Amino acid sequence: MYDTVTDPNVLEGYLTDASNVRGHAEVLVRPKSTEEIAQIVRHCQANQLPLTIAAGRTSTTAAPVPFGGWLMSMESMNAIIDIQTDFATAQAGILLGAFQTEIEAKGRFYPPDPTSRHECSLGASIACNASGARSFRYGPTRPWVEAIEVVLPTGEIRTFRRGDPVPTDWPIPQWQEPSVKTAAGYPTPKDAVDLFIGQEGTLGIITQATVRLTDLPAEVLGILAYFPDRQSAVRFTEVARAAARKDPLGALSPRCIEYFDHHCLEIARHRVEVPAEARAALFCEQETVPEHRDEAHLTAWWEALSEQGALVDATLITDDPAGKAKLLALRHAIPAGINEQVIRNGMPKVGTDLSVPDGALNEMMALYEASPMQHVLFGHIGDNHLHLNLLPKTTEELAVARSYYLELAKRAVALGGSVSAEHGIGKLKKNQLAVMLSPAILAEFRALKRHLDPHWILGRGTLFDPEAS
Ligand SMILES: Cc1cc2nc3c(=O)[nH]c(=O)nc-3n(C[C@H](O)[C@H](O)[C@H](O)COP(=O)(O)OP(=O)(O)OC[C@H]3O[C@@H](n4cnc5c(N)ncnc54)[C@H](O)[C@@H]3O)c2cc1C
Repeated sequence: MYDTVTDPNVLEGYLTDASNVRGHAEVLVRPKSTEEIAQIVRHCQANQLPLTIAAGRTSTTAAPVPFGGWLMSMESMNAIIDIQTDFATAQAGILLGAFQTEIEAKGRFYPPDPTSRHECSLGASIACNASGARSFRYGPTRPWVEAIEVVLPTGEIRTFRRGDPVPTDWPIPQWQEPSVKTAAGYPTPKDAVDLFIGQEGTLGIITQATVRLTDLPAEVLGILAYFPDRQSAVRFTEVARAAARKDPLGALSPRCIEYFDHHCLEIARHRVEVPAEARAALFCEQETVPEHRDEAHLTAWWEALSEQGALVDATLITDDPAGKAKLLALRHAIPAGINEQVIRNGMPKVGTDLSVPDGALNEMMALYEASPMQHVLFGHIGDNHLHLNLLPKTTEELAVARSYYLELAKRAVALGGSVSAEHGIGKLKKNQLAVMLSPAILAEFRALKRHLDPHWILGRGTLFDPEAS
């Protein structure tokens, strides 16, 4: 039998996430088995108690923050069950980074790499269809999930494998997702596994998952390239992206392309050395392909960087630990500096998560750069998915930042993009989901939700509300 915790001092530690939104709950449960989870769900269903699932609570959208009812923490569901050559299975609450470390110790590789992977869980990374820098090469979490065990909102325990059809009586939404990196809303699923990826804890509790593994890259080169302006960095991105798409095993075939604007570099200058003439930077990784030998990769990278106007004298391409530590120092200096600025401002930052098609990248970047307040721009430029961080200093600026974000979301959608490429919708971006989806599609989402969860107990307030808001 599971324990229930009502001590407010214990509950206190579970009521928020990385968005800093604070909620409230009457009871905390920390189940240790799928059967306990099913019992808890049946109890909540019978008593019509809202039930919110939380794991690492690194969500930036208040998705795991409860507003009443019971809160279920997945922290004790953290066992690795099996690691084979092609598949690995673990309970959903295991930290993703810990799971990957064990997989890599056996010489295999599970690529999804949200920056938060050492704090976030496997189950939530599936529930949110998380991505990371390497998604440029490997895609988001979705294609890597092979099977899941899930507790439905009725308390029924089901196991779905790839290719298992969605039960015929479930009213599946039929819509065309944008052809960009996206983690916004339910998919039109290929099979039953697909339906539970990206559902943000609203359709079922993932208790265990089997993921696909691939070969661990033998060697990875780290590249830090500086540019005199944004335009040359974007030009290089376009060249490298085209090369990687044409030949994923080519000499120039980055697995990630990450952008930092000049505001990021200003912040970094306080902590690490940054060339004076640099106005933009790209961080990339290249998995080496044995038949190319390192020389072929180096030649291809140096040529492309020179042709696109990179500051080649300041550029670093490295495979040794000291060089990689230098690259990491720059990447860490930026979030650390942003957090310090946020604390100085005394206001939360407003961070975007929009993605757009290739042809719309320059227009979105120009809009980001025209932000009406202090800001920094960085992120997954290879996927046209940049995080603009607006840094308001007053409550008035905070309101402006939020409305500017909504305008940006509308423009991204008009350009064929998504309102969330990786962080999901949660409780904070429901207005943006409504920008992206027609009322008819939202009605289909509600019909599915109501069919599986008639009393709307699971993840109440996340993604969308029972009636149009
Ligand atoms: C510093 C930082 C960096 C980040 N970087 C990235 C990034 O690079 N890429 C990216 O995609 N995201 C990123 N995120 C967002 C976040 O880490 C991911 O969304 C992550 O998947 C959340 O995992 P979690 O265990 O913390 O889940 P939580 O925050 O606890 O929960 C997130 C959602 O998942 C649901 N959930 C949790 N467990 C389950 C389960 N077992 N079954 C069903 N639903 C469940 C919850 O109800 C909630 O809706 C970042 C966040 C931070 C703070």
